[in-house]
Amino acid sequence: MTNARGFAALTAKSPLQPWQFSRRFLGIYDLKIEIHYSGICHSDIHQAREEWGSAIFPMVPGHEIAGIVSEIGNSVSKFKVGDRVGVGVFVDSCRNCANCRSGDENYCEKNMTATYNDRERDGLTPTYGGYSNNIVVDENYVVSIPANLALSGVAPLLCAGITLYSPMKFWKVRPGMKVAIIGLGGLGHMGLKIAKAMGAHVTVLSHSENKKDDAYQMGADDFYATISPEVFKGLKGKFDLILNTVSAEHDINLYLNTLSLNGTLVILGLPGKPFSVNAGVLLGARRSMAGSTIGGMRDLQEMINFCGENNILSEVEIIDPEYINQAFTRTVASDVRYRFVIDASKF
Ligand code: NAP
Ligand code: ZN
Ligand code: ZN
Repeated sequence: MTNARGFAALTAKSPLQPWQFSRRFLGIYDLKIEIHYSGICHSDIHQAREEWGSAIFPMVPGHEIAGIVSEIGNSVSKFKVGDRVGVGVFVDSCRNCANCRSGDENYCEKNMTATYNDRERDGLTPTYGGYSNNIVVDENYVVSIPANLALSGVAPLLCAGITLYSPMKFWKVRPGMKVAIIGLGGLGHMGLKIAKAMGAHVTVLSHSENKKDDAYQMGADDFYATISPEVFKGLKGKFDLILNTVSAEHDINLYLNTLSLNGTLVILGLPGKPFSVNAGVLLGARRSMAGSTIGGMRDLQEMINFCGENNILSEVEIIDPEYINQAFTRTVASDVRYRFVIDASKF
């Protein structure tokens, strides 16, 4: 077994604390990765606090992992020791279903194996995530990181980046398209940067004025604080595509109304409680409401390469592991500019 040190939630009520555990033996297709940086995604908080239903404890969260290969199994062919690599939200899938075969492993008919709070394909062994000094992962679920991108700013691409890139690819974001991003957090700021690099006209809809300057600095064409419902009157029918990253409950109808004819609002945030949707708002302009979750391995590598070519990195605040619980509190309070990333050398 491989010894690992990390931070874990022992129950849904307890703060995260130092925890030692074992990773599986290095299989013939496995890589052992020394983790350098691990991003804190809001999904880590939802799961560690059981906001999405019952979870597996002890839980080592973390699915935005950037590091260096330190050991390889005998049959590994895609990577070598010393390579810069990333691991995202899943570490396996059935590999046989139509979705896995078409590169949509994230939509595996037999469920992807999540990087943490899940069990490996044996149905028994718990998976432990990136709030740790190392991880053992099959090479087919690892991506390589371009040399020009700093590992600290890359880590959040592994979840936040792909979660925004994948729907933009699916809904064919192109120059001149009017795209709105709701919520300028970890996901939202990646969406802003990626949509701008694709040539879209990008509007940020944020729930306060606080992030206005940052939004413009990151390339936003327009910014609106949605604190006042009056704002929505001027935005009716304006956007072709809306990417909704909000982690808390909110009135979705106000935003649906800002879609143009045939426009689509894609749900990416997962507040936990169901939305209430006004049918009239949808059919009044043949609008669609859709959902999307992360992206498959092919898209994950494509997104990282796209970010390499366009020099796109996450804006990060690097923290020590001892700060994780405070980082959770600040993330929930929308007080993060724009992703906390843990320095994994300190575990
Ligand atoms: P985050 O960094 O906390 O960002 C969420 C943003 O939502 C905040 O920065 C804030 O933006 C806005 N917000 C928060 N509370 C709000 C409120 N009460 N009213 C209105 N807006 C509010 O979180 P994240 O890591 O980006 O994740 C966002 C959500 O996406 C989470 O629910 C997460 O679980 C989910 N997620 C989904 C996927 C997927 O595959 N679909 C992947 C990763 C994460 P402003 O301050 O600009 O308003
Ligand atoms: Zn995530
Ligand atoms: Zn499958």
